[in-house]
Amino acid sequence: MSESVNLQRDTLRAATSTVSLSNRFDRRPLLVFWEMTRACDLACRHCRASAQRHAAPDELSFEEGRNLIDELAALGSPRPILILTGGDCLKRPDLFLLLDHAAARGVPVALAPSVTPLLNVGAIRALREHGVRSVSLSLDGAIPATHDEIRGVTGHFEATVQALKDLKRWGFHVQVNTTVMRPNVNELAAIAAFLVELNVDAWEVFFVVATGRATAGLELAPDEIHEVCEFLLEASRYGMTVRTVEAPYFRRYVKDRAHAQATDHLDQESSYLRDDLVARLGESHRGLRAPSVATRDGKGVIFVSSSGEVFASGFLPLSLGNVRRQGLMAIYQDHELLRTIRAGKFRGPCGECEAVDLCGGSRARAYASRGDPLASDPSCPYAPHAAVMLGVGAN
Ligand code: SF4
Repeated sequence: MSESVNLQRDTLRAATSTVSLSNRFDRRPLLVFWEMTRACDLACRHCRASAQRHAAPDELSFEEGRNLIDELAALGSPRPILILTGGDCLKRPDLFLLLDHAAARGVPVALAPSVTPLLNVGAIRALREHGVRSVSLSLDGAIPATHDEIRGVTGHFEATVQALKDLKRWGFHVQVNTTVMRPNVNELAAIAAFLVELNVDAWEVFFVVATGRATAGLELAPDEIHEVCEFLLEASRYGMTVRTVEAPYFRRYVKDRAHAQATDHLDQESSYLRDDLVARLGESHRGLRAPSVATRDGKGVIFVSSSGEVFASGFLPLSLGNVRRQGLMAIYQDHELLRTIRAGKFRGPCGECEAVDLCGGSRARAYASRGDPLASDPSCPYAPHAAVMLGVGAN
C-alpha cells in the first residue's frame, strides 16, 4: 500500500477515533445549548426559535441563568460547553454578567449571536474581554442575494462577512453555520471556497428540519443528501473542520469511506459539488477534518429554551421538563425518552441499522415528519436497505 494511502488511512482513523467513547454521554452532555432569549431583530425563513422582536416575559432570569451555569460547573472537569444562543443572545442585558460568572466557575462558553448592529467591534472586544473564545455566525449563501433573501435583510451578507473578519482579527475561534436546504444547496461549493478564503476554523452544516418557520419543502431528498455528504468530506480537506447538525449519517458516511479506503475499495463517486469545489480551490492533499463524536439529539446534546423548558435539541419541540422545577442533569440522565435515545432503541430502519450507535438518525426529523421521536429518520440515504448506495456494504 502506498505511503499516501497509509497517511490518509491514519487521518481517517483520527477523524473517526472518538466514536468508541460515545457511552460517556450517559452521565453528562458534551454540549448544552441555552436559548437565552427569543428576542432578535432578524426574521429568518428557517428560524427554529420563531424569534420575535422583544423578549418574552417568561425568560429565565439572571439568577436562574446563574443557577444553570452553577449546575454545569458542579459536574467537574471536563465540563460541558455552554453554547449561548437565541434569538440573539446580544439582546440579553445581563449577557456580560453571565459570561463573567461562567468564566469564574470554569464553564467554557461559545456564543452564537445574530449579525445585527449589536454585533459591532465594541461588542466583539467586550466578548473577548469577558472570556469568550469561540463564536459562530450563520452564513446561508455564497452571494448576497441568496443569504439576504433567507435572512430577510438587505445587506446582511456584507455585514456577516465583515463580522467574520472582525472576529478573526480579534483572535476568536470562528465557526460558520450554514443551513443547507433547497434554495442554497447548489451554492455549497462556493460557500465552502469562500470560508476557506476567510480562514474560518470550523463549518457546521445544518440539515434543515421542518420545525419553527422551516417547512418540509426546504428539506433535501436522500439522494441530494448523499451528494452533500460526498462533498462535505472533500470540503474538510481544505483546513477547516467540517461537522453536521441533524445529519448524523454523515458520520456513517465518513466511517464507510474510511473503511473503503483502508481496504483499497474506495471508488471516487461523481459529485458535482465536489467537482465545483476542486475547480474553485484546486485539488487538496491535506488530511480530512471531519471528527466523528457520536452525539445526537439527547445524547451528548441538550437544549434549554428561553423559558427553561428542556429539549433533546432545539429542533425537537417535545418538552422533557423545566429547569425551574428540576435540575438539568436529572432530566438529562433520567428522562425515559433520553435514555431510550441513548440506547439507540428506534423503530424502523434506524432500529435495525448497524450504524445506530454512531449515527441513530435525526430524532428531530423523525419527530417532525412522523410525530415520533423514536421513528426512523426519513431523510437517511444509508438506511439498511440502501447501504448498497455506498458500494462498501455494512460496517
Ligand atoms: S438508518 Fe438511521 S441509524 Fe442507520 S445510517 Fe440511516 S439515519 Fe443513521
